[in-house]
Amino acid sequence: MILGSVTPKRNLRSLLDFRHRARIERIVGRFAVRFPEIGFDILWTSPTCNAQAFVLDGRKQIRLYGGLARHRRLSVAGIAWVMAHETGHHLGGAPAHPHYFWLSSEERADEWAATSGLRTVFGRSLGRRYATVGRREAMKVAHP
Ligand SMILES: [Zn+2]
Repeated sequence: MILGSVTPKRNLRSLLDFRHRARIERIVGRFAVRFPEIGFDILWTSPTCNAQAFVLDGRKQIRLYGGLARHRRLSVAGIAWVMAHETGHHLGGAPAHPHYFWLSSEERADEWAATSGLRTVFGRSLGRRYATVGRREAMKVAHP
């Protein structure tokens, strides 16, 4: 998603903020339950400001890095948006990503997140909220 950059320490929540970590794990867990064909993990200690959809040994994977998971400017809404976007890379279908042709394009991943993914995981009303508020949060972090 936001390739390569590192979140400055001042913008990172503490690794010991277990309440926040539990909130984020609940969000990711809801995706994991709804989409069992995808493996999800969170690299809490990594400061990398990124989330990634990839295929490893034929299995679809989504990895959330600590620099996003612990970012002070992201609430659960922003994380929900990011997870839906990454899931959209796997499940959105055509058009394909120009370089990673086994994934959906950025635009298609966004569209799938907004029209299908968030509603499927969170229901219509919360899904709509995450598609607006969460997307806005994530865009601010990606393009400050
Ligand atoms: Zn993307």
